[in-house]
Amino acid sequence: MQQGIWQRELLRVAVPVGLGLAAGWSVDYPLPGLLVGMAAAHAMSLRAMANLYRWSHRFGSPPQDSGLVGYSVDRIVRREKNLRSKLSQQARQLRRYNEGLESLQDGVLIIDAEGYITNFNSAAVRLLGLRNEDLGQHVKNLLRTPKFTKYFDRGDYSKAQQFDFNHVRPQTLMVQITQFGVDQKVMLVRDVTERKRVETMRQNFIADVSHELRTPLTVINGYLEMLQDMELPASLNKALGQMSSQGERMQSLVNDLIELSRLESANSDSAGDYFNLQHLAHSVIDQLQSYDHNTVSLQCEVDVEVQGFVDEMRTVLSNLLTNAYKYGGDGEVQLTIENAAHGVRVSVSDQGDGIAAEHLTRLTERFYRVDDSRESSVGGSGLGLAITKHALEHHGAQLEIESEIGKGSTFSFVIPAERVQPA
Ligand code: ADP
Repeated sequence: MQQGIWQRELLRVAVPVGLGLAAGWSVDYPLPGLLVGMAAAHAMSLRAMANLYRWSHRFGSPPQDSGLVGYSVDRIVRREKNLRSKLSQQARQLRRYNEGLESLQDGVLIIDAEGYITNFNSAAVRLLGLRNEDLGQHVKNLLRTPKFTKYFDRGDYSKAQQFDFNHVRPQTLMVQITQFGVDQKVMLVRDVTERKRVETMRQNFIADVSHELRTPLTVINGYLEMLQDMELPASLNKALGQMSSQGERMQSLVNDLIELSRLESANSDSAGDYFNLQHLAHSVIDQLQSYDHNTVSLQCEVDVEVQGFVDEMRTVLSNLLTNAYKYGGDGEVQLTIENAAHGVRVSVSDQGDGIAAEHLTRLTERFYRVDDSRESSVGGSGLGLAITKHALEHHGAQLEIESEIGKGSTFSFVIPAERVQPA
């Protein structure tokens, strides 16, 4: 086809030039005849180009031409048509994407690499009180709470986080940031005010009930202790012994529930004070060894001070060591404090029966116990690890559990480097 066009194009020049030359020859003026023929050929192509020029400026219809110009015009028209249909397809997709964003109950903000807002949906307007003028603003300028600023700057968005905002009305919002494309972020904002209210009510209820139970239990246990000191028939003494051990169990359960509620509702905005980790470990071991007769070997590779809450960390170490004593059989318990990639690792290992893999992820749930019959004989409440998990969260740490049946268990956590300084 292209060959045919070239032939036509050549003919267009050759015919007027040939005719001009032949006419000139017939009257004995071949050169002027040739020039006239060339001028005619040139005038014809000028006309085609003038039409093309007019059309390229959107005047008039596409030039009708059977040569190169017509062919090129045809190609351009087809390409433009394709492009237009692709554009309208993309516009439709964009509209659908925007409609999808708008239909979400959760607020969505698109943020660029520097943290400036490039788009948001109307749920974000409702939840965060954003206005159109806020497009292009830095997200930290709009959500002005130190906790959010810290979360945003830290850059670790693996977990969603709750924030209390007072911009529009007092509300609790769950924020989850996700990396998107090369350098953009999507920020999802969900209103969890009601969920938090119910959760707080539940926590308060448990804390209130536990507090109310504490006093009567103390009185009952006191009288039971007094009765045990009296000269009573052996059968009664046995019953009193059982009542008193159950009473003590209830008391420790109530104490654990109060501690758990306190940890759950504690305001974690403050980072706490510095305390010496090695001294704390020694004091916990000494205290426990005065009750139990197990031995623990302490291996301290580093002497550091940790920023946090000394009583909570005491509870953590005490719970982990008590469990290692309780479930670790007669083998040695080892407490190790050592350097880790991102802070200081504390681990408690025992040589007990170990825990089957299917239980490992559930151990920190309230009242979860691997084997009820065995645990009730060693007096566990099933709250120790739940308390430990919460206390560690206040220190930016997570409980890790490794265990194998028959080979013992290791409970460990890493205190992040920003909370650690040399002693
Ligand atoms: P409890 O008061 O029952 O000890 P925890 O929350 O401290 O409650 O522990 C939950 C359960 O995890 C325990 O009941 C026990 O089954 C298991 N567990 C905890 N520590 C160990 C350990 N060192 N070895 C084996 N099992 C353990």
